Amino acid sequence: MNDKLSTKLTHLGEKGAKSVSSPKSPSITMSSAFVFDDVESLDKVYSGESSGYIYSRNGNPNHELLKEIMSSIESGEAAAVFSSGMAAITLSILSQIKSGDHIIASNVLYGGTYIFLKEELKKFNIDVTFADTSTDINNLFKSNTKFVYIETISNPMMEVADIKSISKTAHNHGAIVIIDNTFASPVICRPLDLGADIVVHSATKYICGHSDVTAGVVVSSREIIDKIERLGTLYGPMMSPSDAWLLTRSLRTLELRVREHSMNAMKLAEYLLSKDEVSNVYYPGLKSSKYNNLSKNVFDKNLFGGMLSFELKNGEKGAFDLIRHLDKVKLVPSLAGVTTTLSYPAKTSHRALTAEELKKANISKGLLRLSAGLDDIDDIINDFEQALAKL
Ligand code: PLP
Repeated sequence: MNDKLSTKLTHLGEKGAKSVSSPKSPSITMSSAFVFDDVESLDKVYSGESSGYIYSRNGNPNHELLKEIMSSIESGEAAAVFSSGMAAITLSILSQIKSGDHIIASNVLYGGTYIFLKEELKKFNIDVTFADTSTDINNLFKSNTKFVYIETISNPMMEVADIKSISKTAHNHGAIVIIDNTFASPVICRPLDLGADIVVHSATKYICGHSDVTAGVVVSSREIIDKIERLGTLYGPMMSPSDAWLLTRSLRTLELRVREHSMNAMKLAEYLLSKDEVSNVYYPGLKSSKYNNLSKNVFDKNLFGGMLSFELKNGEKGAFDLIRHLDKVKLVPSLAGVTTTLSYPAKTSHRALTAEELKKANISKGLLRLSAGLDDIDDIINDFEQALAKL
């Protein structure tokens, strides 16, 4: 055909290449919208009569593949994917409340979630009770309590939630349980199997595992995911198809990675516990942890995750000096990457908390949070050995 230059530039290649083989790895469908032959076929996709894609804010093949894997490994009916963990968390919360409702939330949570619950929800006239969810919460329920919000392993104190018991109590009161499973990952814990109703992830962490994507995932029943996805298309924090592709690629090695992260965390927790410069180590895998017994009912495979925290005897100065003296272990305000990293919660994830709130959550000035990597554990212990010797 004798098309003009601009027509060639915009139309050539639309049919794609012909091949008898198919790619071993999925393609990235980098398309914001999809093409239809007629209005009838478009209408059938909108009404759910045909399956297909319309517009990538509503769905995309790369989202679909990621959702299929996530819903299966988290034992849910369906999943929704977003551009950050906070999008997954806030939309899950908003999907369950209306003005005048009441929520119960753990008083030790990721700082962003805590501030959203404490400050943003005021605009929606939501009453939030923050509580120590490791104690009996039965008396805290009101007739308008919609859900209990907890983390499988709390950030940064590594407290383990008794998901079975909390879910049972919540259900007795007609409420549901939303649980952030970021620190545990579905390799060692599947909250829906233990009775929870909605699982959220900062997929930026173990689901990704390589510190190169910011993303969020929610897994639940089909009915709940439909509500959350409706809010997703309205608020718009959609995941890019290339990020969905990267996360799918990362999930192929999730089990191997979490196993290794967990074994390295155990060795580091035992090592740090033996050091004079360290006053406390918080890791559910340690026999001395008050969560060790409970963990065995919550986690699989005798693994306790890759995250721990510890306190320096010399408080803030000890923590700051240790960070300065470490060579391989870097200060990184995130977690779950391939290298072992440290974070300082009082000035990073929990910096929005007041001094009183930090004290209540036991986040001291000497507290460091450690993300065990996939690097050789002896080299990491040697790095701590030389750095602690300089304190
Ligand atoms: N949940 C937990 C436990 C986190 O640690 C974080 C971030 O560090 C989030 C949620 C928020 O996720 P994102 O940073 O992907 O929005």
